[in-house]
This record gives sequence, C-alpha cells and structure tokens, in this order.
Amino acid sequence: MSSPLPDPCDNVRKTLRLDEAVARMCAAVRPVSGTETVAVRDALGRVLDEDVVARVNVPAHTNSAMDGYALAGDTLPANGDEEREYKVIGTAFAGHPFATPPAAGECVRIMTGAPLPPATDTVVMQEQVDRHDDLARIGAGHRAGQNVRRAGEDLTEGAVAVSAGTPLEPAHQGVIASVGVGEVVVRRRPKVAFFSTGDELTAVGKPLQPGQIYDSNRYSLYGMLARAGVEPVDLGVVQDDRDVLEAALRRAGDEADAIVTSGGVSVGEADYVTEALRTHGQFDFWKVAMKPGKPVAFGRIGEALFFGLPGNPVSVMVTFYQLVRPALLALAGRPPETPIRLKARCESTLKKKPGRREFQRGILTTDDSGAYVVSSTGRQGSGLLSVMASANCFIVLPEEAAGVTPGSEVEVQPFAAFV
Ligand code: AMP
Ligand code: MG
Repeated sequence: MSSPLPDPCDNVRKTLRLDEAVARMCAAVRPVSGTETVAVRDALGRVLDEDVVARVNVPAHTNSAMDGYALAGDTLPANGDEEREYKVIGTAFAGHPFATPPAAGECVRIMTGAPLPPATDTVVMQEQVDRHDDLARIGAGHRAGQNVRRAGEDLTEGAVAVSAGTPLEPAHQGVIASVGVGEVVVRRRPKVAFFSTGDELTAVGKPLQPGQIYDSNRYSLYGMLARAGVEPVDLGVVQDDRDVLEAALRRAGDEADAIVTSGGVSVGEADYVTEALRTHGQFDFWKVAMKPGKPVAFGRIGEALFFGLPGNPVSVMVTFYQLVRPALLALAGRPPETPIRLKARCESTLKKKPGRREFQRGILTTDDSGAYVVSSTGRQGSGLLSVMASANCFIVLPEEAAGVTPGSEVEVQPFAAFV
C-alpha cells in the first residue's frame, strides 16, 4: 500500500466550485462522431443527425374538423337572415371522399377527417343543424371557412419536420411518421464502461462473506446511464489492487468513449484510482465543493473520458446527476439540459455548514393552495441509499448557506427532470 503521489497539478490541492467543475468537464467533451440508421420506433431518445424533410403535406388534404355538413361558405345565411334549407346529396367519410360538388342549395354530410368535397370550404357542426330526411336547415351566425383543417397547415411538403440535433421524444416519432418517413439517421450512442472498485464488494447472487457488502453502485449506475441514453458496458467489480485496476482501466479505455467508476478516489491506503489515472491517463480535478461527493476524479484514459466517483452509494448518485450526466449528454451530442429548479417552502430544519453546495434529499409536495412544500427525508448520510430512494428531489443549498429554519424558501431540483 502506498500513499498518494505528490502531484504538480494545482487542481489536486484546490477544491473547485461545482459550476466550475461542470463547465470544465463539458468544455473537455467532444461529441461522438458516427451515425446509424434506425427504424423510427427504435429512435426514442436518440439524437437526429440529418433533418427529416416532409415528403407530403400534413394533413395531406383539406378536411373536416367536425362531424357535420360541408357546404360553400358563400351560401351560408347572412346574419339577420332566416335559416336556410339545403339538400343533403351524399356523405363523405374519413378515407372515403365524396367527389360530387354540391350545387347552390345543396350540402354534403361529412365526418371528422373526411376530405372536403369539391366546391365546399365550410363545415357546420351537426349539433347546429336541424335535419329532416334529406333536408338540413342551417341558421345564421356561421363563418365561411369554419371547422376546416387546411392541407399542409401542420407541415408543408418540403419543410423541415424535425431538425438535425434534436433528441427524439415520442412526439417527434409521431411527426416523422406523419410525413411518411420510416427510418432516420441518428448519432451513435456513446459507449460508457463502468465498474465498481472495492475488495469488500460481492456481486448480487452470491452469499455475503464476513466483512462483505453487496455491490449496489453498479445497479444505480446502470439505471442512470441507461436514462442518459448511452450504451452501458458493465465491467463488474475490480479489486483494490494497483495492477488489476490499471488493467481494467486500460481495457475500458480501449472499449469505450467514457469510463465511470465508483470507489477508491479518496486518500485511503487502498484508494488507487487517482494514482492510476495520473500514471496512465490525463488527470484533472479531484475535489469539488459539493456534499455529498467531495472527492471526484476527472480526466482521460487514452481518448476515453474518465469519471472516478466516490464509493458511497448516495454520493455516486449525486455526483452522477450533477457532474457526469451533463458531460455524457454533451458526449452524445445532445443540447445541454436546464435542470428544473423550483422554489419551495421548507418544512424541516436543515443543518449545513457554509462552504460546499449541498444536495439534501427531500420530499416535494404541494399544499392546499397549490404552493410547493418540501420536507427533508430526515437522515442524510451518504451511505443511506434507501433514504435516497424515498426522496423525489434534491433540496439544493448554495455554498454560502448555513442551515435552514422551517418556513424558509429553498430551491428544489425534482428527480423528474432526469426522466
Ligand atoms: P470508498 O470511496 O472506496 O472508500 O468507499 C466508500 C464507502 O462506500 C465504503 O463504505 C464502501 O464500502 C462503500 N462502497 C464502495 N463501493 C460500493 C459499491 N459498489 N456498492 C455499495 N457500497 C460501496
Ligand atoms: Mg473502496
């Protein structure tokens, strides 16, 4: 076992503010290159690499927005006129156009979505029509052109329906289908290798030996990586051994665009991660003024970005959400997210010392008047993962803040921002 190497890099001694650390990380990231063509259904969450251009007008034809009667708007009774009688000459259904133009004094029964028959431009909804046999009586108060959806009013043929660089949501998938496109060109997903370090870790499924704990970090990390839209590559548990760790890092650097590890970034006698990074890669900062999660290593192994997270399970999640996720989104070529921040009335007493930005776990609800209220989950230990699981938000306390008294306003970051 050895003590940490002295390092000429200033950042090793200096503690960075969180915003400075995020800015540095994101500035170091170049988006992955390379594309693939996927079916629209498989494109959820992927970043579009080429504009999708509308091949048709949407809607393709002018059609009725209501169930009712189609007629020529200039035959409507004017305001103040008596109601007028029209002969119903046929019916237009969605998918079954009615091709005969009505003459003066005639109209066509029409269903929602049916193309407007020739010589008509107006629909009167059926609730406003007095129908007897093949006669329809229509009163005053209508407007020519009403209740009609114009061809191309959503998208015009030739227009950009979804532009390159857009991360695809379900609505985009529908829009792409609406212009008749079945496959899209998307960015390659970054491959992110991840592993846990620690001699005390047992993989789920094996009995615990004395002094052992189950490796939970690889599970929460897998979920967070999957939600970030990257391709996770699970490299298992790596022992607290310099050679084994170095071999694992080299392998990860060869295989992946980024590496995320947990544990071994502190200054304990079995903490080899920062040392290995200094020896085999490029090393940047390793202390960030945040709680939980002060020791965080960042750098590169070969071309791969490296994120060395602390071992404590809650620290892993907080550092991932605040630091790693923004960098991985940039790596995937996605636009930066603006995390949702709400102001809420805090119902608990929160303890804090000035200095670090804190992410306390909270439960956000609304009161009877609809205002946001947040209470602490209570215990805030960075090893208490089940307490994190009971939370739905971080209560974000700025660096300079001391404690919070009940009734004060605090800033809250709901986890829903990460879905
Ligand atoms: P370390 O940063 O390696 O000193 O680990 C800090 C604490 O987190 C120790 O109590 C570890 O046992 C615990 N820990 C580290 N890795 C994991 C893991 N993968 N799953 C659960 N707990 C862990
Ligand atoms: Mg450890």
